[in-house]
Amino acid sequence: MKGLMQDWPLRVSSILDHAARFHGDREIVSRSVEGPIVRTTYAEMAVRARKVAQALRRLGVNEGDVVATMAWNTGRHMEAWYGIMGLGAVCHTLNPRLFAEQLVYIVNHAEDKYILLDLTFVPIVEAIEAECPNVKGYIIMTDAAHMPQTKLKNALCYETLLEAEDGKFDWVEVDENAACGLCYTSGTTGNPKGVLYSHRSNVLHALISATADAMGLGSTDCVMPVVPMFHANAWGITFSAPMVGAKIVMPGQKMDGESIYELLDTEGVTFTAAVPTVWLMLLQYLEKTGKKLPHLTRVVIGGSAAPRSMIDAFERNYGVDVRHAWGMTELSPLGTLGSFKAGMETLSYDEKLDIKVKQGRPPYGVEMKITDDNGNELPWDAKAFGHLLVRGPAIAGAYLKGEGGQILDEGGWFDTGDVATLDPLGFMQITDRAKDVIKSGGEWISSIDLENLAVGHPKVAEAAVIGVVHPKWDERPLLIVVLKEGETATREEILHYMDGKIVKWWMPDDVAFVAEIPHTATGKIQKLALREMFKGYTLP
Ligand code: ADP
Repeated sequence: MKGLMQDWPLRVSSILDHAARFHGDREIVSRSVEGPIVRTTYAEMAVRARKVAQALRRLGVNEGDVVATMAWNTGRHMEAWYGIMGLGAVCHTLNPRLFAEQLVYIVNHAEDKYILLDLTFVPIVEAIEAECPNVKGYIIMTDAAHMPQTKLKNALCYETLLEAEDGKFDWVEVDENAACGLCYTSGTTGNPKGVLYSHRSNVLHALISATADAMGLGSTDCVMPVVPMFHANAWGITFSAPMVGAKIVMPGQKMDGESIYELLDTEGVTFTAAVPTVWLMLLQYLEKTGKKLPHLTRVVIGGSAAPRSMIDAFERNYGVDVRHAWGMTELSPLGTLGSFKAGMETLSYDEKLDIKVKQGRPPYGVEMKITDDNGNELPWDAKAFGHLLVRGPAIAGAYLKGEGGQILDEGGWFDTGDVATLDPLGFMQITDRAKDVIKSGGEWISSIDLENLAVGHPKVAEAAVIGVVHPKWDERPLLIVVLKEGETATREEILHYMDGKIVKWWMPDDVAFVAEIPHTATGKIQKLALREMFKGYTLP
């Protein structure tokens, strides 16, 4: 028997309309690319997003076309997303930190028809324009007064385009399974691959991620996504925040400690999210200035493992509840978040921290298991580690144009490429990326565990661990360290600090001090580049 409920399609445009109707005067505050702080509301955004749709339609963009954005987190970028998606087109977020040749590949592979870009990125786009012949035009996201001199052919001014429209536009009623968003993985191996989100998957992901034990968002929250909209959709916050009517604060291009602190303080931000490198800068700024975080209640840290020392600093020094999260572009992106379960409130501070360093547990809508190399499921005993497999309605089933072939196994599971443990309570802990794990004498050593331990040393700013070829053990860990400004340290000092905190055979064989550790476009340590740098390194 078929249910008799309404067939109400899950489209992202309904999120903005809900926000405009029920939370119309709630603000979206942005540090604009031009400089000043600008304020708008959901009611105004719903009109301006419609103007974006009208303008794009006038330029010949139709349902199913792909329109790219290369922009910082601002209200303008957010309204452009809703305009593109509300037109039934696909919003493709370009990561400006990618190499030029990767951008060229992505723009052509996705068949971007127009590119909307911030002033900051005009030089980047100018440099690739000649190799992207199918792009019909470039919309510079500024007003006429700030339009730059540019070599870009067919450069259009965003605000001028919007001025010509009246904002009276009915969202295109596409099927809920129609594509609406596109984001490429950074492609550490081979070419980047496109993850194509649907209206339905984005709406479900927003519903799931707003729940209390996930991000726990509500109308009284003031939410600041520092994680860029071009990095896995700002972890869905541009959908989940309007869904609940939260105020949004957009940091624009300034992500240094002082700029982030200023917005946290002046706007009264209660909830924020970013990768560890951003929080490192904020914590250093707070330490230096003695400032506090009176408004902030929750911070989500993900994208790379959050070190224990970072979680401890937020919790102990600033009273901020850390939610460690794990996810990936293919998961829309949230997979797990570390909120406590009943009974855990009575644990000691250190026991609580032991749980918080794990990557968390999946909300409803993410199924999870770990398997050995032969596909046999491994026990949830917090010890056995294996390939992490996931399944759910907001998880990729294939890449754009079938790149990478069949990505699900016969049971419909997606192999994340991560290696993890699961504990009896369902908390997952990432051991490593499958390709980064160090294989010493047939046993695995977790580079992440060693890195997290090393950054706990008071003189260490950042640490990375890679496997280096060893005649007897195949591979042994090499610890690569960036010291905090003005500090000096010896190999022995660092190893002594780690001694006793890990099993003996996990101890790095050597420590290399470097000025800088290379990062990927999404802020992760570039292990590949490090392995290249230390190729042929002789261990003591
Ligand atoms: P990229 O395009 O850089 O691969 P993703 O954000 O999709 O971007 O990267 C996903 C990967 O990042 C995961 O597969 C995992 O290896 C790593 N990752 C994400 N969050 C965490 C975390 N909290 N701890 C450890 N690793 C993480």
